Amino acid sequence: MELRDLVRPNIWALKPYSSARHEFKGHAEVMLDANENPIETGLNRYPDPLQLKLKGLIAKYKDISIDQIFLGNGSDEAIDLLIRIFCRPGQDSILITPPTYGMYRVSADINDVRVQEVLLDPSFELRPDEILSVAGPNTKLLFLCSPNNPTGNNLDKATVEYLIQRFTGIVVIDEAYFDFSNDPSWTTRLSEFDNLVVMQTFSKAWGLAGIRLGMAFASPEIIGLFNKVKPPYNVNKLTQNQAIQAFEGGLDQVTDAISMIVSERARVWKELQQLEETVKIFNSDSNFLLVRFKHPLEIFHTLREEGVVVRDRSSTPLCDGCLRITIGRPEENDRLLSLLKNMKF
Ligand SMILES: *Cc1c(COP(=O)(O)O)cnc(C)c1O
Repeated sequence: MELRDLVRPNIWALKPYSSARHEFKGHAEVMLDANENPIETGLNRYPDPLQLKLKGLIAKYKDISIDQIFLGNGSDEAIDLLIRIFCRPGQDSILITPPTYGMYRVSADINDVRVQEVLLDPSFELRPDEILSVAGPNTKLLFLCSPNNPTGNNLDKATVEYLIQRFTGIVVIDEAYFDFSNDPSWTTRLSEFDNLVVMQTFSKAWGLAGIRLGMAFASPEIIGLFNKVKPPYNVNKLTQNQAIQAFEGGLDQVTDAISMIVSERARVWKELQQLEETVKIFNSDSNFLLVRFKHPLEIFHTLREEGVVVRDRSSTPLCDGCLRITIGRPEENDRLLSLLKNMKF
């Protein structure tokens, strides 16, 4: 693959904004370069545009190198930047495999980039040969989500690999939920494939949705393009500090939360299975269950009246009759289950 042939020409040629902090290397006694307020508050200086301290911790934890990491204002920023780096508005397209995460389409629509769709099969697996036959020379990005939202399952590894090897653009694997699955991350395969981008996030297993921090992992050449296009100070100092603190505080909190959620997922699964009202519960490698009910909308509205909110996915392709239920704390799951047990139709 020639990266240059895939990137928008204006982005390839772009001379990026060079921030004051970017240009400065070494020890500064007196910083009069960035028009900041000199009174120290801990936040009066611009943050590190490349977030090197935090990336150092992530690199060590994930066993990859710093120049393979992009950090953004949520994974949503990474999705938007990928589209802006690779897709010429009005000419190029992305390919998605519904039912899947909604932001790929929204970001493409915002950027006036066409969206091609190849549905998953009824067991929520990819249809690789249909994907390859629909993809044309202007199909720049293939978005795969594994474990997939809203279906919850990991995509078959051999099929994903088949696509990475044959798709002529960039394959993006969104692993927002990989911490809840037993499969290894695709980051372990980055060195084999120069057209692979893997996304993860601090929003789910890490319990830090509020700080807005997402990660993309790829070759240093692709990461260089992200760095060229991103707003210079896209990850603020509070966010960087909070994530650094999560690493320095030890990761027990994260691993404990993951085990609680995974064991509650099994319990809720078993209890939902007992209900007359349940038609099917799909296998989940994530922190939610996709459940097909006989009366999904009645359930959705009754739960809502009781102050319990779940996601209605019943009008999504292949998800008719389905609600998506996030696994909560044990007492929250109890409340959901007891409401469901007592519902009359
Ligand atoms: C929740 C989620 C994300 C996370 O997005 P952030 O912007 O990092 O919060 C990304 N991808 C999928 C599929 C998700 O469900």
